[in-house]
Amino acid sequence: MSIADKSLTCSDCNEEFVFTVSEQEYYKGKGFDYQPQRCANCRSTLFERRRASGVRYRPARRTS
Ligand SMILES: [Zn+2]
Repeated sequence: MSIADKSLTCSDCNEEFVFTVSEQEYYKGKGFDYQPQRCANCRSTLFERRRASGVRYRPARRTS
């Protein structure tokens, strides 16, 4: 079975975007059965917004 670029619709802006073969392979390689919900634009907007609001990935901290 060969994979091809997929057209998906962004859940934020309702624009069509392409889920490319290389992206599909990337997620597959990580063992995810994953389809992005948002276009690259909205994803980066979301990422910037999160970063701006001060949410970050904290390093694991020992509790004892
Ligand atoms: Zn979008």
